[in-house]
Amino acid sequence: KASVMGGVNVEQDAAVQSPEDSTAKTELENLQSVRKTLPIYAYRDGLLEAINKYQVLVIVGETGSGKTTQIPQYLHEAGFTARGKIGCTQPRRVAAMSVSARVSQEMGVKLGHEVGYSIRFEDCTSDKTVIKYMTDGMLLREFLGEPDLASYSVVMVDEAHERTLSTDILFGLVKDIARFRPDLKLLISSATLDAEKFSDYFDSAPIFKIPGRRFPVEINYTTAPEADYLDAAIMTIFQIHVKQPPGDGDILVFLTGQEEIETVEEILKHRTRGLGTKIAELIICPIYANLPTELQAKIFEPTPEGARKVVLATNIAETSLTIDGIKYVIDPGFSKMKSYNPRTGMESLLITPISKASAEQRAGRSGRTGPGKCFRLYTAYNYYNDLDDNTVPEIQRTNLANVVLTLKSLGINDLLNFDFMDPPPSESLLKALELLYALSALNKHGELTKLGRRMAEFPLDPMLSKMIVASDKYQCSDEIISVAAMLSIGNSIFYRPKDKQVHADNARMNFHMGNVGDHIALLKVYSSWKETNFSTQWCYENYIQVRSMKRARDIRDQLEGLLERVEIELTTNPNDLDPVKKAITAGFFPHSARLQNSGSYRTVKHPQTVHIHPSSGLAQLLPRWVIYHELVLTTKEYMRQVTELKPEWLVELAPHYYQLKDVEDLASKKMPRGQGRATKD
Ligand code: ADP
Ligand code: MG
Repeated sequence: KASVMGGVNVEQDAAVQSPEDSTAKTELENLQSVRKTLPIYAYRDGLLEAINKYQVLVIVGETGSGKTTQIPQYLHEAGFTARGKIGCTQPRRVAAMSVSARVSQEMGVKLGHEVGYSIRFEDCTSDKTVIKYMTDGMLLREFLGEPDLASYSVVMVDEAHERTLSTDILFGLVKDIARFRPDLKLLISSATLDAEKFSDYFDSAPIFKIPGRRFPVEINYTTAPEADYLDAAIMTIFQIHVKQPPGDGDILVFLTGQEEIETVEEILKHRTRGLGTKIAELIICPIYANLPTELQAKIFEPTPEGARKVVLATNIAETSLTIDGIKYVIDPGFSKMKSYNPRTGMESLLITPISKASAEQRAGRSGRTGPGKCFRLYTAYNYYNDLDDNTVPEIQRTNLANVVLTLKSLGINDLLNFDFMDPPPSESLLKALELLYALSALNKHGELTKLGRRMAEFPLDPMLSKMIVASDKYQCSDEIISVAAMLSIGNSIFYRPKDKQVHADNARMNFHMGNVGDHIALLKVYSSWKETNFSTQWCYENYIQVRSMKRARDIRDQLEGLLERVEIELTTNPNDLDPVKKAITAGFFPHSARLQNSGSYRTVKHPQTVHIHPSSGLAQLLPRWVIYHELVLTTKEYMRQVTELKPEWLVELAPHYYQLKDVEDLASKKMPRGQGRATKD
């Protein structure tokens, strides 16, 4: 305990701990001198002074200036941690993990001890932890257990400019507790110049600017729009790699997600193989949210002499992570964005043009250590005329059900008057209230019910939480938490190598035997794996990603722990699948759809044409009634993870939501085509 008080001498501290004294010490010394080269270092004392003086401080500094990694250390060295932890929020899991790893190295301590991170389903902290990096969503959840954040002395809401939903909600909550906790220090840090807005919101909090170093960046546009930006990106990578002097700087490419990154990675590997030793080595480093931890560190490894690194990144490299040595940025101009239609309650992830502010940030990544070049794969005309100035904050384009449930659990009832920096559309709030009411999480006065309180214990979407709580009644909580864990993994369970697609598809179809539907297929994958005692070999044989399965197991273990908290026993019903399907329906009844004569589906409540995703086990079967997990819009509006449903269940399980006329099977009465008005609001 004594070591955290009154400024720690980090070097000595680590030297005492390390068994290999001399090597560890030099490595640590190196890291310490690197710390001193960061732009923020010159402002260390001034910054600490300002923090001492003001309760709330807005901090602005160019990406890479050292805000995230250094400020918590400065505070620790200055003794703040003697009074409580320093919490630093990040909008992205990968950033929380990677930054905490870096800071633990710099401090010469083991990750999870003095420095740790907490992300959903993964807590890498201990009693010793004094610097805690976490996702903004996790801090939001901490309010449920500790409404005044009493164990914290400083809360740093980092990457505030990202304006994620959780960050926006945190703003309101921390602003509130700062009023009755004068000892709590609040730092709002941002990479962009939106600082005035933050300052205004926090009652004119002072702004501390860290002047950045930025070298000139040459911006290049294409002369005509690109038909295929992936193709164009790959061409540009090769042009840079071949034409520019070997080893003169690395390339950063912004792509929209894991799938694109994997595609580009594969093509690059294939083409460089053909080139043999004629050109310099090209080291390919992907980075995206679900990249396994072991591989994340690779992007930070220094590039060997004469070689060139190409980092294929999602938006995460825009401001959350700084990769040193980047000289070239390739910006296709897109990112994956959530969009939400409050009328229908449908949410989709869309590949959308970025904003000018994003484009500027991306370009800036190339000018950190020397003059850089940015290749925008769109025209100057596009840039000036088509791109919005700023990205719309997430709160204005997302489903709010989860956040509303959290706020209600915190006793915040009057949501329309919550202190939002930018308020969400009131239709979105109403829609969220409506959904939570339909799920019986709220009563008709909008107050949290006992069921709602239990649902809020789960760090999941309310429909998933409801499904779990409902499984108690159907005596199948054991199965349902496996389904929930598998659904939480996303689409990375099955893999399909190019040269073995038929085998992979056959293996996958095994789990769909009996046309059980996708949820049950996921359950079967999990239980079969469990039966083999979690065998890796079994995963290989069945074309299943072992890493995803391990993650599902971790999530499942945690859900099992949470069951206990809400007093649900682990029950199983191995011989009957209907109870499992009913529990799923109890959570997902708003997601029902009915087959049309045309072969497409129509959602029941807010009629919209949708299709079964080709990857579904039911894609060929086309059952009359289905329930789906989510909608994704690619070439069409697809339902992903689909299970067949008995329409009478809708009325049985959600009589307040569906009436008989909604589920009467008009389709069987041979209605003329195009007259699919089977439902009405
Ligand atoms: P800011 O938050 O102001 O954008 P950071 O504190 O994230 O700046 O970064 C400061 C420096 O630390 C950068 O040079 C960055 O490359 C380095 N850094 C951050 N995380 C890691 C990591 N995991 N491994 C290696 N270097 C890192
Ligand atoms: Mg940062």
